[in-house]
Amino acid sequence: MKNKFKNLLQLEAREHLQLDFWRSPSTPGETAHVRVPFVSVQAVKSFLESQGIAYSIMIEDVQGMGKITRGSDLMQQMVHSQMSIYSLETFQISQEMDNLVAEHPGLVSKVNIGSSFEKRPLNVLKFSTGGAKPAIWLDAGIHARQWVTQATALWTANKIASDYGKNPSITSILDTLDIFLLPVTNPDGYVFSQTKNRMWQKTRSKVSGSLCVDVDPNWNWDAGFGGPGASSNPCSDSYHGPSANSEVEVKSIVDFIKSHGKVKAFITLHSYSQLLMFPYGYKCTKPDNSDELSEVAQKAAQSLTSLHGTKYKVGPICSVICKYPVCWKFLRMTH
Ligand SMILES: [Zn+2]
Repeated sequence: MKNKFKNLLQLEAREHLQLDFWRSPSTPGETAHVRVPFVSVQAVKSFLESQGIAYSIMIEDVQGMGKITRGSDLMQQMVHSQMSIYSLETFQISQEMDNLVAEHPGLVSKVNIGSSFEKRPLNVLKFSTGGAKPAIWLDAGIHARQWVTQATALWTANKIASDYGKNPSITSILDTLDIFLLPVTNPDGYVFSQTKNRMWQKTRSKVSGSLCVDVDPNWNWDAGFGGPGASSNPCSDSYHGPSANSEVEVKSIVDFIKSHGKVKAFITLHSYSQLLMFPYGYKCTKPDNSDELSEVAQKAAQSLTSLHGTKYKVGPICSVICKYPVCWKFLRMTH
């Protein structure tokens, strides 16, 4: 199994095949999920067959599925599917944010932290019971196509606002901390994924001297920038950008967090999978507070399981979604 696992990692590293791993090969013996462009189907099939790796087809035509997408009823759209086939229109999201502010004036306010490359506002919901408290940051939709995350963020916003004073956990959090929530981190990409390309995950910024536009904003942070896992090819889906924080969407968050000065937790929502991960991702050493992070994450995963039986895999990003070649080094150390 170990060898087959390594073969699968090799497959992921072959950029020319343009494979899109929805669930990366992370542990020997586990199933990986990959979207294969039509032109690479034969090559991938031959590869898997030659390596004796069993496979099955989950969705015959992803693009076809993506067409049944934009409904109109807000609640209907907040489905709990893994890869939501419904998207919320950006105006619905901004309307919903304004409604929340109007309904909970003493608790919820809207803070603008900047604009996207195409000048869409980056609006954050602030939940605060007053005073300058330390804060938790939450964002969703940095990968445009992960539509269930923007919907989850709105659902969470509603939950926080309506449960303050009723639910003891939410009440105690808001009595000691503020919460900042950005439901649409990558609005340009989000609109593009709704109108042009369902599989879009990057920003829409222009890269000078390149035919390809856009950057994967999740690889654009100033942490291990340009390291393993990211791509330096502007046409790749995981292109890290010309420099750290080059994307205005990323830079706006960085500036806001720095100027706030008291953000104690930074949480980002992605789809799909049930993974609860903590640092590091770009390297495999443990942070100083690794034990505490692990303990909190385990508790959170247990609470999640107690609700609907959903099982989350918990651990550092490095070992949960192992990215080649960081992953390879790590595997040599541990397996
Ligand atoms: Zn993502």
